[in-house]
Formats: sequence, C-alpha cells, structure tokens
Amino acid sequence: MADVGITVVGAGVVGLAVAARLAREASDLVVLDRHERPGLETSSRNSEVIHAGMYYPTGSSKARLCVEGNRLLYEACGAHAIPFRRIGKVIVAASAEERPGLESLLALGVRNGVELRMLSGAETASLEPNVRAVAALFSPDTGIVNAHALMDHLAREARAGGAMIQLRSELLALERRTTDYRLTVRAPDGLESFTSERVVNAAGLESDSVAALCGIDVAAAGYRLHWCKGSYFSVAAAKARLVSRLVYPVPGQLSLGVHAVLGLEGRLRFGPDVEYLAERRADHRVREERRAAFGEAVRRLVPAIRDEDLEPDMSGIRAKLQGPGEPFRDFVIREESGRGLPGLVNLIGIDSPGLTAALAIADHVAGLLAG
Ligand SMILES: Cc1cc2nc3c(=O)[nH]c(=O)nc-3n(C[C@H](O)[C@H](O)[C@H](O)COP(=O)(O)OP(=O)(O)OC[C@H]3O[C@@H](n4cnc5c(N)ncnc54)[C@H](O)[C@@H]3O)c2cc1C
Repeated sequence: MADVGITVVGAGVVGLAVAARLAREASDLVVLDRHERPGLETSSRNSEVIHAGMYYPTGSSKARLCVEGNRLLYEACGAHAIPFRRIGKVIVAASAEERPGLESLLALGVRNGVELRMLSGAETASLEPNVRAVAALFSPDTGIVNAHALMDHLAREARAGGAMIQLRSELLALERRTTDYRLTVRAPDGLESFTSERVVNAAGLESDSVAALCGIDVAAAGYRLHWCKGSYFSVAAAKARLVSRLVYPVPGQLSLGVHAVLGLEGRLRFGPDVEYLAERRADHRVREERRAAFGEAVRRLVPAIRDEDLEPDMSGIRAKLQGPGEPFRDFVIREESGRGLPGLVNLIGIDSPGLTAALAIADHVAGLLAG
C-alpha cells in the first residue's frame, strides 16, 4: 500500500483549492511546496480580479471554469469572510475603430452566459467621468478579492480535512511504479522519498517540468510553457480616485491589455503588460524604462494620468502555453491514464483566469480522480 493516497504538487491557489476540495473525501493527502509559505509565486502576483468569463472561446475550459469559478468564488467569499468587492468593470472603446471589438466581445460574452451591457459614451461618462470612451461594455459580475485571504482560507479547509501541507519541499523526481508513484523531495533535512497512489501536478510555472519528471515528452504533448512577465505601475494617491471601477481596454491577442486595477484598500495600479522572458528566471523587478510605454497605454483609458504619476510596482509571471504570436491555448487539465500514468492529473498552462477559476478547477479535478 502507498504511504499516502493523494499528493498535490504546488501550494498556489490552484493546488490549495484542489487540496481543500479533495480533503472533503480523502484525509490521506499531502500538499508539497518548495517555499516556506504557500502562495508565494503567481498566486500572490496578479490583479486579484474575479473575472466574469467573456474573453474565452465558448465551450473552452477557460470559459466554463471561469463562469463557474466566479460563482463559486463569490459564494465562498460571502460564506467565509474573505475580503472581496463586486466592484464591476467597464471595457472601453477609446475610438470608433475599437467599437466592433466591443461588439464581438459582447456577443462572445453572451454566448458564454455572462451578463454584459453596452453603454454609450455618455452613459460611460456618467459612471466613470475621468475615462475616455466612445462606448463601453459594463460587466456587473467582475470584482476583486484578497488572494492571500482566499489562500489562507483554502489552506485552513485542507488542513481541517486532514491534509498535511509540507513546505520547503521541492519535488525532484516522480516515478511511476506498478500501482503507485514514488516521489523524491528535497526537504530541509535532506532528500526524502515516499509513495503516493495519485498525484496532482499544480506546480504553476514548473508544471511542465513536473510532467517531464515522469517521462512525458512535454514538447510532443504540447505542454511546454512560456514564461510571460506582466509588470504593474502604481498611481500616486492623489489620483487614485480617478476611477471607481475596473477599467479595461478592448483586449489584444495575448492579454486583456494594460488595465486599471483597484485594490481592496483603494490603491490604483495599471498593468500588466506582456513581456515573454527569454530565460526561465523569476526576475520580478519592474523596470523604470517601461514608464513611458505605460503612460501611453494608461492615458488611452484615463487621460489625466501623467507619466510622473506612475511608479514601478510589482510584477507576476504567467505560465503560458501560448507562445508569442500563437493562437489561443486552453488550460490543460488531464488525467494521464492514456499515457500509462493512471491517477496523475496534470494542470498545465493555468494562466489567467486561474485565480477566478480555482474552485471550479478543483471540482473538475475531483471528478477526474473519481471517474
Ligand atoms: C500578472 C498576472 C495577472 C493575473 N491576473 C489575474 C486576475 O486578475 N484574475 C485571475 O483570475 N487570474 C489572474 N492571473 C492568473 C493567476 O494568477 C494564475 O492563474 C494562478 O495564480 C495560478 O495558480 P497556480 O496555483 O497554478 O500557480 P502558482 O501560484 O504559481 O503556484 C504553483 C506552486 O507550485 C510550487 N512548485 C513549483 N514547482 C515545484 C516543485 N518541483 N516542488 C514543489 N513545489 C513546486 C511553487 O512554489 C508555487 O507555490 C494573473 C497572472 C499574472 C501573472
């Protein structure tokens, strides 16, 4: 018999959500993370936006799990005192040429089951007088959440169900044996090894490397990740009240575009931009040189913000399956019996809207492991 029933690799929001969900039914569960605390990577370096689900192709996992995750996340926030606000967002067409983009997004959103309303320029100005728009889409179900509080809640739920969260433990080797997996971990006291019946790979930026550990050819499988940095600039407090909702441009091919992000504490930031990293190195510095490009993108939405009002803030790195110039890629959420690896579930390319979708992803993983 294996030492543990299920091992979840990665204690970001997705791994913790999976652990909290699985711990309802199975108590012999271990979560591994290489850091000294959960959630120190992408899950604490993002916009903390609860997306509504209008951006993704209808029927994709991103669309379905975002819409479902949005509902589950608001429910969990309400039930467990996780700080959040259903603040709403406007996606603005700054010029007439951008209007068709808004109309396509409206049609896509409606197909995905998202509530959206088209606003005229005057209606947008009455909601957001400092925003420049000839028209806008209003999404009442977009909001913001405290991601740390959400992860604290999920870690508590997982532990309450009997899960052990083992920190400072980096998975180095994963070997399929006849009926289980052998995991080798670098822990504070040296190398440790144990067996687990099933394994969920929620290793974020390293989820492709973890898949490779048990012999999957990640290039052939289409699992190779691109690291794509997104930086933010914060706005001086005097101008933080220029908007009262989230304000986004019409999205581009690779990202939702530099947008206005309001924090629960009232701070205003703009970001994230898109910078594919040549090397897989977690360099989170935000470069001053990006200020002018940011200023330009910001003024397309809120003309009163000048370059001098912007200060380099934080950054996060997206785990993207989509390389530069490539078409849309969906989340990979796959039970790998088909590759001779039964009981292994890979979660790869969980970029945006992964925070929003985490609780729905967890339900989906529970279904895959039960089936
Ligand atoms: C700039 C930016 C903005 C975003 N904005 C939003 C947003 O507003 N709304 C939204 O819904 N989503 C957003 N996202 C996406 C969201 O942040 C991610 O989808 C989500 O955080 C992914 O969570 P995760 O648990 O998969 O990954 P992570 O948080 O990266 O967790 C993975 C964990 O695995 C651990 N790990 C890795 N390898 C190993 C190993 N070998 N052994 C042990 N542990 C290991 C790491 O230490 C890490 O803690 C944004 C992302 C970025 C980068």
